[in-house]
Amino acid sequence: MSQVQKVNTPQYTLPGGIYLIQSIIQVVIIGAGPAGILAALRLQRFNHISPIIYEVRSEPTTLGGAVGIPSNGLRLLFRLGLWDALRERGAETSTLSVHAIKGQVIGNMDMTSWSREKTGFGYLRIRRVDLMEVLYEEARKAGIPIHFSKHLTGIEEDNKGVTVTFSDGSSDKADLLLGCDGIHSMVRKLYVDPNTEPQYSGISNIYSLVPTSELPSAAASIDGLNVMLTTDGLLAISPCRASRDMVYWFFSRELAIPPGGDTRDGWEERGKQQVETIKSIVLDLIKDSEGEWGLTIKESIRQTNTLRFYPVYRLPTGGQWSKGRCLIIGDAAHAMQPHASQGVSMALEDIFMLSNLLDSNLGSLNEAFRVYEQKRRHRVDEMHQLAERNGGIRKRTPPWQLWFKEIATSGVLGIYNLFGLGKLGLGQKPLAYDVEEDTH
Ligand SMILES: Cc1cc2nc3c(=O)[nH]c(=O)nc-3n(C[C@H](O)[C@H](O)[C@H](O)COP(=O)(O)OP(=O)(O)OC[C@H]3O[C@@H](n4cnc5c(N)ncnc54)[C@H](O)[C@@H]3O)c2cc1C
Repeated sequence: MSQVQKVNTPQYTLPGGIYLIQSIIQVVIIGAGPAGILAALRLQRFNHISPIIYEVRSEPTTLGGAVGIPSNGLRLLFRLGLWDALRERGAETSTLSVHAIKGQVIGNMDMTSWSREKTGFGYLRIRRVDLMEVLYEEARKAGIPIHFSKHLTGIEEDNKGVTVTFSDGSSDKADLLLGCDGIHSMVRKLYVDPNTEPQYSGISNIYSLVPTSELPSAAASIDGLNVMLTTDGLLAISPCRASRDMVYWFFSRELAIPPGGDTRDGWEERGKQQVETIKSIVLDLIKDSEGEWGLTIKESIRQTNTLRFYPVYRLPTGGQWSKGRCLIIGDAAHAMQPHASQGVSMALEDIFMLSNLLDSNLGSLNEAFRVYEQKRRHRVDEMHQLAERNGGIRKRTPPWQLWFKEIATSGVLGIYNLFGLGKLGLGQKPLAYDVEEDTH
């Protein structure tokens, strides 16, 4: 196959491999997930850089559950002009209701009361397929080319640009390469940081999407994120569509690496077992749950036909993010556990930081990457740690400890609401962080 695209890159490289920002007119993006498409949209509109995206899958993905996007990410989606389309599809759900194992509510809180006041945005739960459809449509309208079935095999740089090659023999050349290819990033493996490997977090998730038409009528009025701690993990349910016609539920629990080791086959086998047994395991764990909530959650689980199993992997902190003209962003650089709902928002913050630095007077790409790293590292590490801490509550607990946790949670949420601690921004400051203010 011939070259996909020819680019006449001007020679704006100074001796010693210094790449001038003004020379960046084309960017190759590897990966058409949230990070890749959002980066393409922003760099095209704001920096007038032409993007071209290469995706390994053969077509847009229809897989996935539903992601939560809090204030910091929603504000950036608004600035990209995507908020109205996303809000038409997703469910705005910022309340958290914690249920005891017997079903009754032991505490409520608005997770974004303060950050919504600061940013104008709360919390959106949206099916991944809806999110991706909105992004693909926006890319289509912007005329951004996305090439599918592209298996990256090589990355090379010279003073005229960076060249990527694919298994079908095609290649492309640009001034800037963005690795947006997720946790198992080939851009990272082949080029930027081959030594950084994903690690299993010790936590696995099972999730499903269930139409409310198949559930008791109360399911259509579930509002916000409803969670219940059990002795063997965390169970949660939330609406995920503006029309409230579908709920997303997940069970997140501690699970050891398969006996055969951390291999794809081992996980496939374990995933199959989990999918086959989890409904009865969870129904047994919550058998004493009563009232409308108890009935609804049990029925949601019984009516579930398709379940997906997902062992949660993350990247260790401290890996390398850039090399030469190449930067990895989003999960490719810093995949974290999903328990802080910050994956998509961290990718958005990466993109805005990069875009603003490319628009600044830093002069060279090398300097832009240096400042990028200096500013992003602390924020990303902080969210990484928060997600890991939140993962802790999913661990196995003896019944007496669960009882104690319920009392403690009820007490903490009671005090939080009584003294209006939400109004002080307690626990919400990271959600009001504005990456654009931090760039300047
Ligand atoms: C169970 C679970 C629940 C989650 N919940 C949330 C949540 O509530 N909120 C939230 O913000 N985040 C959540 N996340 C995390 C979130 O999904 C990620 O942070 C986010 O998708 C990262 O986007 P990305 O574009 O960087 O990577 P990805 O979404 O992984 O996209 C990478 C893209 O690159 C493609 N690709 C891979 N390899 C190659 C290659 N070699 N060449 C070309 N293309 C390639 C992939 O096919 C994919 O299209 C969750 C994750 C999991 C696993």
